[in-house]
Amino acid sequence: MSSIGLVALGNIWPEHMSFPLVLALMGALGYLVGRYRRTVFSESVYQSRRELRRAQIVAAELENISLLVRKQLTKHHASLARFKQRVDKLGSKEHEAAWKELCQEAEEILKPTLQLANQIANAYDEIRQQSNHLMTFTDVRTDPLTGVANRRALDETLVSQFAMKARYGTSFTMALFDLDHFKEINDKRGHLQGDRMLQEVAHLLDEGARETDTVARYGGEEFAVIMPETDLHGACIFSERMRADVAAKMPLSISGGVTVALDGDTPESLLGRADAALYAAKSAGRNCVFCHDGAEVEAIVGPPPTVATSSGEGLS
Ligand code: GH3
Ligand code: MG
Ligand code: MG
Repeated sequence: MSSIGLVALGNIWPEHMSFPLVLALMGALGYLVGRYRRTVFSESVYQSRRELRRAQIVAAELENISLLVRKQLTKHHASLARFKQRVDKLGSKEHEAAWKELCQEAEEILKPTLQLANQIANAYDEIRQQSNHLMTFTDVRTDPLTGVANRRALDETLVSQFAMKARYGTSFTMALFDLDHFKEINDKRGHLQGDRMLQEVAHLLDEGARETDTVARYGGEEFAVIMPETDLHGACIFSERMRADVAAKMPLSISGGVTVALDGDTPESLLGRADAALYAAKSAGRNCVFCHDGAEVEAIVGPPPTVATSSGEGLS
């Protein structure tokens, strides 16, 4: 039994904690715990930054409800103590039998309330444990610098996507993005400024991607985007849009390589093709996107590459 459980025992129902409020709280707890379970065990496919952020919000909600319950139970305990004191004072020798009867009646009335308080206390314990699990689950799958999914989350997403493809015949695409001349940017502007740019690119990709996509930091200055149920054409449109977005908003550019998962692919062969397309984009002069359909590597024709020069110097 938790400390809350001990506090709850022997309490009576206080006037400021109505029964419907507790039922509502229990309902909310059940919903949130259920939602957490689904998030952890069934939806591990979608570990985008957005999903992780949602998980953190759920954990914070759980924590708030737990604190509220704890506060209410403490008040509840104080009310019982006051009630018992009053009963003790009022109990006189001549009315002893009547008082005993009254106390017994009160105990009977309180029994279901105490059971409910116990259940709340147990739920509180479970919430704390699950909040901790949820935080650990989130932390080990998030890149600490950029907040997007890390390599581990990317690997897990690829495994899930290939399993979905094998079982249900679903398709997905992958884009790899690499910051152009990033070493030069670090050298000129400093590592700290370089880190900020990595964060900004991650943010733009995350905002530009769909809810069901996974944006991950693949390496030092490389990002991968997994796009379930998206064909090569769609993935190319997305990638070109991202390239143009970065070039328009930032004093740097990115190059991209896009490919689609084919029958017989493995995570390695898929990444290999995306990497080959990215290499082609770098060789073609950077600030562009190339597409690999399994047979050929082709440039995606977009608007002429431009790089924002708001900070004074253009880089491409
Ligand atoms: P290219 O256009 O061919 O990609 O040139 P590049 O300079 O971007 O490529 P290169 O692989 O030579 O250098 C990558 C640079 O990325 C080197 C390293 O300093 C930088 N980098 C990697 N991780 C981080 C990081 O976490 N923070 C910062 N600030 N820089 C990083
Ligand atoms: Mg690189
Ligand atoms: Mg680079």
